[in-house]
Amino acid sequence: MKDIKGLLPNDLCNFVISLGEPAYRGDQIFSWIHKHGVCSFQDMKNLPLTFREELERTSYITCLNVRSKDKGRKGTVKYLLETHDNNAVEAVRMKYGYGVTACLSTQIGCKMACSFCASGMSGFIRNLTASEITDEALRIREDLIQDNINIRNIVLMGVGEPLDNYEASIQALRIFNSKEGLGISFRRMTISTCGLIPGIKRLAEEGIPVTLSVSLHAATDDIRQKLMPINRQYPIKQLMNAAAYFQERTGRRVTFEYALIRDINDSDSDAYRLVDLLQKRSGHVNLIPLNPVIGKGYIRSTSTRINKFRNILKAASIPVTVRRGLGLDVNAACGQLRRRYCR
Ligand code: SF4
Repeated sequence: MKDIKGLLPNDLCNFVISLGEPAYRGDQIFSWIHKHGVCSFQDMKNLPLTFREELERTSYITCLNVRSKDKGRKGTVKYLLETHDNNAVEAVRMKYGYGVTACLSTQIGCKMACSFCASGMSGFIRNLTASEITDEALRIREDLIQDNINIRNIVLMGVGEPLDNYEASIQALRIFNSKEGLGISFRRMTISTCGLIPGIKRLAEEGIPVTLSVSLHAATDDIRQKLMPINRQYPIKQLMNAAAYFQERTGRRVTFEYALIRDINDSDSDAYRLVDLLQKRSGHVNLIPLNPVIGKGYIRSTSTRINKFRNILKAASIPVTVRRGLGLDVNAACGQLRRRYCR
């Protein structure tokens, strides 16, 4: 049985040709699935009945079950979705001034075990398939269709490490980019990584102009490896070189994410060390007031501290923003909702 939601238009055309149908049937199916959000062959009314029956015999359309939706303030909605094997997947819809952003998960659980994050707490279960990642966005879009709103931005920043599930993550982005589907520009897509250097280099060669977002969270190896075990394998200097390579190859600016944690990485000295690290490079820093996870013992920095930290970067002419806390009221720190469901 073929999982056809994860196929690009060309591959879908080849598939229908293999069933003895003309290629344009592939475009029709792609459009039903990705533009109209249809989950059943029987709803594809412009296909002959006999072909719909043939499709049902040879293939299937992955559709995640919407288990719950938590609405937060400022238009944020957190979706808890369920896979065919009863695993929980989180996706978040966020409303910014410039349109809707879908934040998607790429794995069920995570291997990376960052010490401030809820996702690794239940361990790693499996990679999501390209069709499951794609369907996260389609479930979000289902609620937007009636208002004729499209998803404007895709960020792979939910549960999991996208570069640890490279093929499926990139395939999903290519599907989102297809003009026969959601038609979202690669420039409006962001891949976040905890710092998997081979994946960053591969992405630099991929030929798609996405934004790379590196979760840095510390300016010294000592602090970073306490927060992020991956730093032992890929220390900061090598990571910064890989980010510079990505920028050089793609011409795309890299964003560095920095979660501010009280008394761990938020002092003036930490800010000056970050300035030293970034001063001779271009790149943008996104400061994130920490979404505290129960049981982790980390506390969000105070507003005064966040402002002071930001001002030190600004004074050194490093582009910096402070991320709006859209998620706090809907368990949007990654992995929090899934854990609540899994308990
Ligand atoms: S922060 Fe990201 S990479 Fe780290 S454990 Fe959480 S989901 Fe995985």
